[in-house]
Amino acid sequence: MFELHVLGTSSARFSHDRAVSGSFLMTPGGAVLIDCGEGMQKRLLDQNKALKKSGLQIRSRMAKVRAILFTHGHLDHCWGLLPMLHTMSLDGRTEPLTIIAPTSQKAVAWALKNPGDSPPAESGVDSTDLAILFQQWQSLGSKDDDFGFKIDWVLLPIEQHSPFISPIQPLDGVELMVVPTEHGIPSCGWQITTNPAMGKFNRAKADSLSLTTEQVATLAGGEDITTDSETLMAKDFRGEVKPRRSLLISGDTIGGVQAFGELTTPPDLLLHEATFLEYKSEKAKMYNHSTTHDAARHAKVSGCQVLALTHYSSSVDDITVVQNEAQELHKRSIACSDGDVFTISRDGEITVHRRCEAWQNYSL
Ligand SMILES: [Zn+2]
Repeated sequence: MFELHVLGTSSARFSHDRAVSGSFLMTPGGAVLIDCGEGMQKRLLDQNKALKKSGLQIRSRMAKVRAILFTHGHLDHCWGLLPMLHTMSLDGRTEPLTIIAPTSQKAVAWALKNPGDSPPAESGVDSTDLAILFQQWQSLGSKDDDFGFKIDWVLLPIEQHSPFISPIQPLDGVELMVVPTEHGIPSCGWQITTNPAMGKFNRAKADSLSLTTEQVATLAGGEDITTDSETLMAKDFRGEVKPRRSLLISGDTIGGVQAFGELTTPPDLLLHEATFLEYKSEKAKMYNHSTTHDAARHAKVSGCQVLALTHYSSSVDDITVVQNEAQELHKRSIACSDGDVFTISRDGEITVHRRCEAWQNYSL
């Protein structure tokens, strides 16, 4: 149902075996990228090649990407976009692409007045706001005609603290929810949730009642019918409604963010940054980042099943320490390595396939 490929687990200062942020997510309604740090298209190719050799039926194909969702404009999360678009063009892509990014009304207004410029400090707009970056990228040659496929550039002002449904929904059958986070510039997480699914139609029960083909079709379509002797309710011919499946990819954020406690659907999986270990909690606050315990507290209030940790500081050598700290507050926590693939089944079973362990898989 969902396959999440974590393709970069370093923070801005990467280390030899960790790339910067970027995840590939296959949903029932198509694929999306969440963030796109440098070298992302190479990482997708490498991952796909490794998966092909593994015998697993999971893939990370760039051609399947229908949308790119940014969590914020810091370069370690978005500087791979232009090369990615060029590679898509060289591959002969013709399908449209939607790119959605958080911003503020203030930054949008400033960018409209000063197209292509960098805002000075006194403007109160950050030069890494995606309203500013979108214009600069377009001036560097990423307009529709340059690539041969249409790009829908969507800026989403984040003016509230509570989660809200994205006004743009580029995928069929799943819902995108924007989860505002706090990182010093406009930022958000993305919650992706399957639409409610009807239970299975009980055809045998309908057939046992000597109904006409038309009456059975009406019941199967969800409408009640009245026969000569009784009214039959469509809901009585359906099995149990399947629970929605959901995951949340948070981006960078400080701890204690209100929106994590206000989700209407608890995510099965939360991918959350844990830049710092607990002993650096003051530094985490100073740089608007999370510690392992901040991530675990967000996991608890969100009601998620599994917490997956990423975005480690280069000062973190051993990620089992990250995992152990998070597990002190949230038992089902795992520290990701580059290339990990999480699968979530329709029934909510969560499994991780670890590229660093020759695709050994573990039930979480
Ligand atoms: Zn950041």
